[in-house]
Amino acid sequence: MRFHLQLVAETTDGHGEPRTVASFERSDALSIDTLGLSLDEAKSMLAAVQLVVTDTQAHVEASRQRACPCCGNARQLTDRRTIKVRTLFGKMSVPNPRYRRCECEFPGLAAPLVSILPERVTPELLELEAKWASLMAYGVTVKLLRDVLPIDIATNAQTVRNDVLGVAKRLESELGPEKFFFASGCQGDLDAMPLPDPPITVGIDGGYIRDRTDRPNNFEVIVGKSVPEEGTVRRFGFVSCFQMPSVLQLQTTFGTFA
Ligand SMILES: [Zn+2]
Repeated sequence: MRFHLQLVAETTDGHGEPRTVASFERSDALSIDTLGLSLDEAKSMLAAVQLVVTDTQAHVEASRQRACPCCGNARQLTDRRTIKVRTLFGKMSVPNPRYRRCECEFPGLAAPLVSILPERVTPELLELEAKWASLMAYGVTVKLLRDVLPIDIATNAQTVRNDVLGVAKRLESELGPEKFFFASGCQGDLDAMPLPDPPITVGIDGGYIRDRTDRPNNFEVIVGKSVPEEGTVRRFGFVSCFQMPSVLQLQTTFGTFA
């Protein structure tokens, strides 16, 4: 038997023709390894659907933007270019037609899609890259992304690193300027404040420990030592997540040791 996946774009201009975006075959004899879709087939379908959807969206937006924003007349098409946008489902060549500006605008060429899509990576892809790269190495993140999604073949560890650093810079900029001095008031108010405690040096490290009773099970332990300038040294340990053999339990345990 043969299956065809067809997609119909329904826009304000009406229904488009059904487009076959993917096809696959199956033997009439059912077996467990041919039941349903394979991962490769699913990835190919996602990429094919993404191509049709992004192409349709860009064409509709480009034709809408062709009208002069001042008088509404259709502007002259000078050339058809594309811009590359990385998505969760592949790197898309998004149509980017350029129009000659109308007489009532300032002279030159207009490329509306460039203004509408100033970034070349979708937020969902950035979010997934940042989330996974916070848990594992950049190279492993790329491998995992490739395993489950039809991401761009040229994506590598450096690509993910650059994307994650970009996300980090954006988050950092949203925090605003760093505050170095938190006390406020006149000198009299500052003089009336209690003296701060002596400095404390804190060292923290962590690692994974194998469960003694359930060998394949690991849990993370974070330990540390605080060394005040005066007084006794204290040690502490922290287990943020522990998976029981049969039931997933999330628990937080914090202990201090002399
Ligand atoms: Zn005009």
